Amino acid sequence: MSERIKIILKSGKEQSLKRYHPWIFSGAIKEIKGAAAEGDVVDVFSNGDEFLATGHYAGGSIAVRILSFEHSDDLTSILHNRILAAFQYRQDIGLADSKDNNVYRLINAEGDGLPGLVVDYYDGTAVIQFHSYGMYREKEKITEGLKKTLGKKLKTVIDRSESTLPSKYAPETKDEKTVKGIVSNEVIENGNRFIVDLEEGQKTGFYIDQRENRKLLGALSSSRSVLNLFGYTGGFSVYAIRGGAKLVHTVDSSATAIALAIQNVQLNFGENLSHQAFCEDVSQFLQKTRDPYDLIISDPPAFAKHQRALENALQGYKRLNARIFEMIKPGGIVLTFSCSQVVSRENFRKSIFAAAANASRRIKIMHQLSQPPDHPVSIYHPEGEYLKGLVLYVE
Ligand code: SAH
Repeated sequence: MSERIKIILKSGKEQSLKRYHPWIFSGAIKEIKGAAAEGDVVDVFSNGDEFLATGHYAGGSIAVRILSFEHSDDLTSILHNRILAAFQYRQDIGLADSKDNNVYRLINAEGDGLPGLVVDYYDGTAVIQFHSYGMYREKEKITEGLKKTLGKKLKTVIDRSESTLPSKYAPETKDEKTVKGIVSNEVIENGNRFIVDLEEGQKTGFYIDQRENRKLLGALSSSRSVLNLFGYTGGFSVYAIRGGAKLVHTVDSSATAIALAIQNVQLNFGENLSHQAFCEDVSQFLQKTRDPYDLIISDPPAFAKHQRALENALQGYKRLNARIFEMIKPGGIVLTFSCSQVVSRENFRKSIFAAAANASRRIKIMHQLSQPPDHPVSIYHPEGEYLKGLVLYVE
């Protein structure tokens, strides 16, 4: 048996682990045998001394993130097997080795049995974001696992965890290349080309989670005038033009994002007179615009990162969408999203309902949207479902 620190749960608190939920909350712990520090690998036992799981000690309200429900001293093999399984799954769903897509999420934390770890693959460059210090301490093992799994495909590994790890670790978590090679700066998604900034761009460089929703938007765009709010580097805009939109306006407050949006349109279509980009705050843009649009996309950043911000976030979604419903042309379509983990599908729908009633428009739900299959949700961990969207027809 290993010499790991032992965590003993209160009686009855082993139930969620027996249903494979990957978190242990601090209130479930009866006793910690040893001095556990954040990031340590610990073994978890029931009050009756039955082995339950191995995980990383986190020490917060989520006290342990589970890595394995079977006992093993060989953590390296566990991590490497999970990475391999994650890659094989992307092959199974036709994303790895696809001609039309060379960008996908390779590891989606709990959804791939690797809590605290996100890896996005951009045509040979793997961009890692660690969300827990425990996983961060496994960085070498994970880099080795990526090399073993991807082989020659893998040219470069970049760690972009400075913004995702708790700020107290900032001094030791500088963003860096851990495998040095050429960094990809252009990727293909559903046959569309995008310039990406993997070292400085938001998240890991691109919002890969909107791939399927962008494709749907493309199919709805023919002959419509499209407003892409919170457009970042023009993902939805490129699909709208490809889909035959007669005019596309992209709005984002980030100047670097807007510069890339303009370049991405050019890369795909050359000089394109139907596209215009605005580096502006969305509420200001919406206040003054008089252009009539018949398709509006709203994909804001997470309005709530914590439970206590929930009420304000719901009000925010309501205000923003009410304005959109007021201005859209009759027969218009709205694609509206929330990527806040703490906003449930039900709550998001209620805030959109309130916005519709406020604007006194008659509205039908055409589609209910979610995250794509390379952002899988473990059936035992429904908290992993964060992206929700509605496609609405406004009469
Ligand atoms: N739809 C995009 C991703 C959007 S992410 C895609 O498919 O790639 C959210 C974007 O909102 C970011 O680019 C951020 O710069 C922008 N943003 C945040 N607050 C904003 C505001 N108040 N006004 C305009 N843009 C904002």
